[in-house]
Amino acid sequence: MTEMILRDGWDLESSEMLLRREMQRVGGMVLEELLNSDKGYRGVRTPCEKGHQAEFVEYRSKEIVTVLSPVTLDRAYYYCKQCGGGVVPRDQELDVQDTGFSPGVRRMIGHVGGNEAFEAGRRDLEILAGVSVSAKAVERVSEGIGRQLEVANRVERECFVSGKIVSLQSAEKLYVCLDGTGVPVVPKETEGRQGKEKGSVARTREGKLGCVFTQTRLDEKGHPVRDEHSTTYVGAIETAEQFGWRLYGEALRRGLNRASKVIILGDGLMDEADTALVQDLAVLVLGVDDHEPALVIGEMALDQRQGAFADRAEADHHDGPVDTGVNGPSGHCTQPPGAIG
Ligand SMILES: [Zn+2]
Repeated sequence: MTEMILRDGWDLESSEMLLRREMQRVGGMVLEELLNSDKGYRGVRTPCEKGHQAEFVEYRSKEIVTVLSPVTLDRAYYYCKQCGGGVVPRDQELDVQDTGFSPGVRRMIGHVGGNEAFEAGRRDLEILAGVSVSAKAVERVSEGIGRQLEVANRVERECFVSGKIVSLQSAEKLYVCLDGTGVPVVPKETEGRQGKEKGSVARTREGKLGCVFTQTRLDEKGHPVRDEHSTTYVGAIETAEQFGWRLYGEALRRGLNRASKVIILGDGLMDEADTALVQDLAVLVLGVDDHEPALVIGEMALDQRQGAFADRAEADHHDGPVDTGVNGPSGHCTQPPGAIG
């Protein structure tokens, strides 16, 4: 290869890219050999996920894309009669069950897929990592990772909202902000939804974004300064009620119950549902409901809030409708947050 590069006078960029490609190709061959040193034969029978005895059928091959190159795995394939499905122990061990991408490639895809459009992500993977996948693969893998994260987040959120986990974080002032905006979506996402004008078809859905940050000091002019690196975000395309619980859970995680002051910010440009959401969040968090949906809609000190929290804690123990008016971010939810869809 050095001879070819010298003879044909390759420039540096061509040379480095060629060498990387070749190194990856050779690395892929080594990896393939390593992976195939154990083909996952675990005897004539091996237990399936449900504990039945699956029987060995044959060795089957499958290609997976790794960060080095695509490799072909030969693995023992078992069949479970009771479940009516295959069992491949080696895929489980290597974490490549039901996927054609190695864990390393999936991490890369998740990284680009979470930051940019899928096609742009595909190009970045190619240029930066020398890994070739389709834009569709970036979409599928990213969405799969997104679903896993959402499940984990929901479990955590429910723990905070139900009081199973109590945050030990505390701050001088905790800000809870939210906004919504129309997000253009593909037609299947708006099926059955009416547009803004009667009879028209919706082309957007409302993405809701909330953030929580803290503030401890003022600048020389006396303006509040957001604590550096203190902002965390939640975002979703979902109903105001669902989003209310999401944001409330995040605020709890960030130490809502221990903050000296809580300030809720929403802007006046939001549509009606959001204005209601801001008001209801204020009701939930602050226990007050007489504020206009202006820029700052509520601020309350800890000692004032504690009374409101006590009311709500009591309200939460009712099974039916409660009469405090403090029963959920949307004002209509009487179910525990565990019911969030
Ligand atoms: Zn089975």
